[in-house]
Amino acid sequence: MNSFPILRAIQSAWRQHSVPGQLVIQITDACNARCPQCGMRTTEPFPRSRIPMKDIRLIIDAAAQKGFQAISFTGGEPLLLFDDLLEMIRHAAQAGIPCIRTGTNGFIFRESSDRNFTGRITHIAERLAASGIRNFWISIDSAVPEVHERMRGLPGVIAGIYKALPIFHECGIYPSANLGINRNLSGIRHEDIHSPESFYENYCSGFDRFYQRICDMGFTMVNCCYPMSLHPTEPGSGLSAVYAAAATAPVVNFSRVEKALLFKALFNTIPQYRSRIRIFTPRTSLLALYRHYTQHELLPYPCRGGTDFFFIDARNGHTYPCGYRGGEDLGRFEELRPADTLKNRRDCRLCDWECFRDPSELMGPLLDLQTRPLTALKRFATDRTYARLWLEDIQYYQACGFFDGRKAPKWERIRKGGCDVIE
Ligand code: SF4
Ligand code: SF4
Repeated sequence: MNSFPILRAIQSAWRQHSVPGQLVIQITDACNARCPQCGMRTTEPFPRSRIPMKDIRLIIDAAAQKGFQAISFTGGEPLLLFDDLLEMIRHAAQAGIPCIRTGTNGFIFRESSDRNFTGRITHIAERLAASGIRNFWISIDSAVPEVHERMRGLPGVIAGIYKALPIFHECGIYPSANLGINRNLSGIRHEDIHSPESFYENYCSGFDRFYQRICDMGFTMVNCCYPMSLHPTEPGSGLSAVYAAAATAPVVNFSRVEKALLFKALFNTIPQYRSRIRIFTPRTSLLALYRHYTQHELLPYPCRGGTDFFFIDARNGHTYPCGYRGGEDLGRFEELRPADTLKNRRDCRLCDWECFRDPSELMGPLLDLQTRPLTALKRFATDRTYARLWLEDIQYYQACGFFDGRKAPKWERIRKGGCDVIE
């Protein structure tokens, strides 16, 4: 397996003026958790769907044939279809896709005091390890176990994750903690936050406690999902989510001012932890988002959604530019021609979906250096902070082995990252 898909992405950007394709396949919208921030929670009364295996195989083959480098199998809860999921991963690996990801809400880690827990988790980890998976994420919503478990409706999972991580590591899988930013992170009730300063301070300590907790749990990698509320009065409200992971619930609903403070808090907290845990979130993205929400600056680079990145919906198995442009059904992925994507191409900056936003932001300068070198150099010369952060991010990614979830971190290579702070 090529362990450096991001390196390959860099090479591709340089040689072909493009970003290697990334496909997010929602294999099912069924879920057994109760997250208030999500329209797929088990209590939502809608008929659940899944993409048939034969269609998934066709999609994977088409992705490989089109040169896509990354496939994420998402849900719902992907592990509800564990046997089929393993088959999908194996098929993608055999088709030559180097970067294959999936994850879980953690339900498998319940009942960790059962006598057969270790055997059960070992069996799962061994089968995953043999499948060809590169990255495996586990959702964690809070530094406080009770808060996380109440939000997910999955009691006891944090104790189970503590026990399970060494087993996964032993099997050669280094799971990533996946934080969905939400209001419970601050640790105090929203009505008790009375000023922007107090909002900022509480989220700084919230992120700090979160990173501290996942380091203690034994995670070696972490990612952060930006709030994906589609608020009716916000820019981007024209979006219609085909991916029901977006919700208008207050727990994930933040105003523009609050989002700016969140991104600032995260930006300023990350450097303290970069040498202790591999943090996928690029600070370049956070700076761009902070400026976007404070100074109404256009995000520097348009999202690659609909150009190089696509989403496949569980309900009809069709392709969309992403999970949030539900009005743009592009049909079956295997029938999608490059001409169709060019026709549908638009410089979209309507949301902050980190799955597409972060790689778009990181790859943007590389594409510019190749296609519009003068513009790129001028930008770097006039915005030294951005240039410095981007170089730091690239160096950090390299030191982290490009976040290969099948390799242990090499801490001696990973240094504390970045001294720039947003004042
Ligand atoms: S966020 Fe994930 S785990 Fe939670 S209800 Fe939605 S699909 Fe299920
Ligand atoms: S910014 Fe990207 S993820 Fe968001 S709506 Fe546009 S294409 Fe979709």
